Amino acid sequence: MNTNISKNDDGSNDIDTLKEENTRLQDATIRKSEFISISGHQLRTSLSAFKWVLRMFLDGDLGVISEEARGLLEKSYQSNESMISLLSDILTLNHAEDGSRDYNFEEIKLVDFIENIIFSFTAESFKHRIELTFIKPDFEIPLIRVDQAMFRAVLQNLIENAIKYNNDGQSVVISIEHSANSLQIIVKDTGIGIPLDEQSHVFERFYRAKNAIQKEERGSGLGLYTAQKIMEAHRGSISFESQQGIGTTFIAKLPLSPQSLQ
Ligand code: ADP
Repeated sequence: MNTNISKNDDGSNDIDTLKEENTRLQDATIRKSEFISISGHQLRTSLSAFKWVLRMFLDGDLGVISEEARGLLEKSYQSNESMISLLSDILTLNHAEDGSRDYNFEEIKLVDFIENIIFSFTAESFKHRIELTFIKPDFEIPLIRVDQAMFRAVLQNLIENAIKYNNDGQSVVISIEHSANSLQIIVKDTGIGIPLDEQSHVFERFYRAKNAIQKEERGSGLGLYTAQKIMEAHRGSISFESQQGIGTTFIAKLPLSPQSLQ
């Protein structure tokens, strides 16, 4: 093979230059990611502190407030909530895309893990009178390894969407299925569904279907994009079936740990 590598004037060659450029780009990406992470967390902490002050005013803990003031405070509270939620999405995406950070894969007890996440949605589902049901599997769950924080973000996003894009008084059912080499966590709702002509876009960054925007103003369109990245890092996948006006079923598929396949 003829590898003809020319020398530059300073004695370096093109491969050296490319390597240097690559290292420079990697350093810049790490610095950018650190900047997003640090400033994002600081912003979120400040917004959370602000949220509790607003809550105290709204709850009357700091004295009686007029109806006019209540209306303004309520609007501020809601837009503060939107900003906290957007920042959380940005921070999770930044973490998922940060190539310098390794995923920390650990074995988990999947049923406990899911129950714990469902519990965190008690208030939200109660508010919308959504019945949140977890059908526990009647088979022994084989071993799976996940990065707990990242996988939690995926399931949280699916359950949050299933509640958010549902109709009040309806239901969300979460279940687990098992095939020869994978486990599927299934989140099924009876909500607004995803229009057929928009289904191919929902994993795109910032994409929100028209019926979703109409139903719920709040949303970044980053959740599913991030969830897909996280599932890929787990060598798994995420897919869905949906019918507009009938409901949507999301499936997060995880490969079984090598020990389970022996
Ligand atoms: P967000 O919910 O912040 O808009 P996501 O990335 O989580 O962003 O979802 C992208 C889009 O996919 C949503 O805006 C909505 O159009 C659609 N979608 C996701 N989950 C559901 C669901 N359970 N029911 C109906 N539409 C959904």
